[in-house]
Amino acid sequence: MKSAFLPRLVNGPFGDPGLHIGLRWQGGALQFDLGRLDRLPAADVLKLTQVFVSHTHIDHFVGFDRLLRLFLARDATLDLFGPPGIVGNVTGKLAGYTWNLVDGYPWVLNVHEVYPDRVHSVRLRATTAFSPEALGTQPFGGVLHDEPSFSIHTVHLDHRIPCLAFALRERTHLNVRKDELARVGIPAGPWLNALKAAIRAGEPDDAVITARWLDAGVPQLQRLILGELRNRLIVTTPGQKIAYVVDTLFSRPNAAKIVELAHGADVFFCESLFLDEDRDEALKRYHLTARQAGTLARMAEVKHLHVFHFSPRYDGQAERLYAEAAAAFRGELAPDEPV
Ligand SMILES: [Zn+2]
Ligand SMILES: [Zn+2]
Repeated sequence: MKSAFLPRLVNGPFGDPGLHIGLRWQGGALQFDLGRLDRLPAADVLKLTQVFVSHTHIDHFVGFDRLLRLFLARDATLDLFGPPGIVGNVTGKLAGYTWNLVDGYPWVLNVHEVYPDRVHSVRLRATTAFSPEALGTQPFGGVLHDEPSFSIHTVHLDHRIPCLAFALRERTHLNVRKDELARVGIPAGPWLNALKAAIRAGEPDDAVITARWLDAGVPQLQRLILGELRNRLIVTTPGQKIAYVVDTLFSRPNAAKIVELAHGADVFFCESLFLDEDRDEALKRYHLTARQAGTLARMAEVKHLHVFHFSPRYDGQAERLYAEAAAAFRGELAPDEPV
């Protein structure tokens, strides 16, 4: 089964947080956090359509300038979501530059400031020197983005400031039965993506799917009925899920929110700045330990835990953090108790 989402951390475990997620079927990409982005190729930055910033501590936001630099002259629209204050953070960064020669630039940046109960949005256009235009305020219930193939959810965590955690969910995973496809006698091609898109969009059973292909160089065309194709060719399995949690206190309210958000995730990306031996430091700085990350992963029944965002104090000891997180995740190390 091919994954719909192609996640990769931009930096190593001691580097700034940043998770780039390619979207296999839709094209384009999503980004969780904007730590240093210089290791992300320009072509991958330019694939981004939506960016989600957990909070604006510098290690999660310093990469905004690379994004700005690469997108500035592009004919593109980017949506950036962040916690309360994000509009001021973005406009503050933009105010640090001079914008008198960009009036022909088509780039549009929509910034969405996410509160627990509402989202306040502004549009910033290069052509007007990023003068903010209000887009209004919408009520909010936790879903940042919703389309037929996937959705993005968020919760507000306590990092002594609000810090957003995210979950990306594929709605259902549609697999093609290769044996039946061979019997249909039409080679695989873009028409299968069109079929999947139509199913995800909830189109009626009598909708027509047009398959085009080449047979010995001769163009062929066949019109097929969606309902028949779905019954014959498509097997539906639960979709892929990715959760992303950074910079948070191991408190009861935070743990409850994380466990619900990340429940059953295929991959759970979770910060673990500290080892259990430095638990007091983690509490003081509103961060997680590797043991706490493993505890959360076990409680959330995720399939795979990926810890990152390690303190430089453990330089050369990454294996200790991985081992501690894995031991708590597997139940070999007793779970930690939230405060
Ligand atoms: Zn951080
Ligand atoms: Zn932080």
